[in-house]
Amino acid sequence: MSAVVGEGGWLAVVGTGPGDSAWMTPETSAVIAAATDLVGYERYVERVADSGQRRHVSDNREETARAAHALDLAASGARVAVISGGDPGIFAMAAAVWETLERADHERWAAVEIRVTPAVSAIQAVAARAGAPLGNDFCVISLSDNLKPWAVIERRVRLAAEADFALAFYNPISRARPWQLGAAIEAVAAHRAPATPVVLGTAVGRADEALTITDLARFDPAAADMRTLVIVGASTTRVIAAADGRPRVYTPRLYPADY
Ligand code: SAH
Repeated sequence: MSAVVGEGGWLAVVGTGPGDSAWMTPETSAVIAAATDLVGYERYVERVADSGQRRHVSDNREETARAAHALDLAASGARVAVISGGDPGIFAMAAAVWETLERADHERWAAVEIRVTPAVSAIQAVAARAGAPLGNDFCVISLSDNLKPWAVIERRVRLAAEADFALAFYNPISRARPWQLGAAIEAVAAHRAPATPVVLGTAVGRADEALTITDLARFDPAAADMRTLVIVGASTTRVIAAADGRPRVYTPRLYPADY
């Protein structure tokens, strides 16, 4: 697909990757370069180099209003890039755009060409830094209960833990959600050995990146913040020492014969 998706107005939902521009794909850069307008949460739009586009920044919680504004701009002929962090389809703006489109009965958006451009997500970046904790089956869960009930999240964590998936938690903690991560870890610990490896990757790919390798028994939820992605190993996940002396976490592809 070319960077330019239509002659008139269009809307492309793109993601800047989890870190700096090294994790921005050439396709994403091309779509942004072809856009006349950038729409997004301030922090994400700021990361995009200025090439003269109109910028429409908003608060992180105003996703539906932002999507409607972007659709309006595209309907009036603008070439709009809606900017997410990481991948735009993973706990991000792409779903907000489709939700807005489905909910509203707006004829004026009928002709807007919409596309989603894939990008690197935080889970890939954190896994790469740690080694290969997602080398076998894994399950991805957002711990944010803003848009779904905690009972649903807790049940998913419990069943995924029981099924021995490695688990990745997006949105692990915030000021408004201080206890959910601790509760999720407890739910996993009911089905996994205390020595099961746990990885915390914070602000990976940025200047203040931090990576911690610990285990379920020693896990401290206070070590995570809003920019952390948490990976809990499966029963087969191992920590080994690499030649550089740093530990690495990986999940073998092969299951033991006696599993
Ligand atoms: N669309 C994004 C996810 C948005 S939800 C993506 O695909 O990565 C926000 C959550 O993503 C954060 O709470 C954190 O769990 C994770 N995250 C985003 N950037 C990160 C980074 N650089 N390092 C670690 N985790 C990150």
